[in-house]
Amino acid sequence: MAKRHLDSRLLEKLLQGQISPAEVKELAWHLVEVCPDCAQTVEFDGATSADSEVETLPASMAARDGGRQGDDETEISFARVRERLQGTIVLLHQQRVAAPALLKELDAHPIERQRMLVCNKARFWTLPVAELLLDRAWHLGYEEPDRAQTVAELAAEVVDSIGPTSFGDEVLNDLRARSWAYRGNFHRIASDYRSAEEAFKRAEAFHARGTGDLLEQARIFGLRSTLCRALSRFEEARDLLQKAIHI
Ligand SMILES: [Zn+2]
Repeated sequence: MAKRHLDSRLLEKLLQGQISPAEVKELAWHLVEVCPDCAQTVEFDGATSADSEVETLPASMAARDGGRQGDDETEISFARVRERLQGTIVLLHQQRVAAPALLKELDAHPIERQRMLVCNKARFWTLPVAELLLDRAWHLGYEEPDRAQTVAELAAEVVDSIGPTSFGDEVLNDLRARSWAYRGNFHRIASDYRSAEEAFKRAEAFHARGTGDLLEQARIFGLRSTLCRALSRFEEARDLLQKAIHI
């Protein structure tokens, strides 16, 4: 969806009801989590946007529309955009607020039971739960790479359970890519270089079928670069790092 910013064409499709419920959710996710530019343009401000009233289309948005619409029409259009996205934005906000308690609930169980819960209980099937698990895995990585691996796998199971009918596959593939990139890094920390290479290949394959998010891409390049250094492939490591920096 990073390829699909909220420009006038997407706005029109949204207003005409020509994008699917999954795409509406992806767009809301794009505004809340991925693209500060679009969020600023439509004056969505994370959690607070769930409650705030935004009455007019900002000048930058009007400029994207090429001045095609008059001021009154623009205001009405924007009110309808809010109407279409508001439900999902509020839902994402609620899911983010609920996610820490859900992780705490998982913590009370051994890992096998945790797997069973995330696969069978729909309350765990949210993007914020998956992201929080990935954050936790990342922080565990250097101290406890094996445990970090397990937590990253759990995050991937959450993502698979969310399913493309609920959220578009591109957003889910971004998180799958992040999970594999982290797992590649944990294998590298544990000196299992063959598994690390395999994991990075998978990360890149999922990223190619994701939203094209540049931050995810930079993350994969940066982590792969560290693996190349560990394998004394210094030139490749430098190239990847350069790519990551210049994204
Ligand atoms: Zn955007």
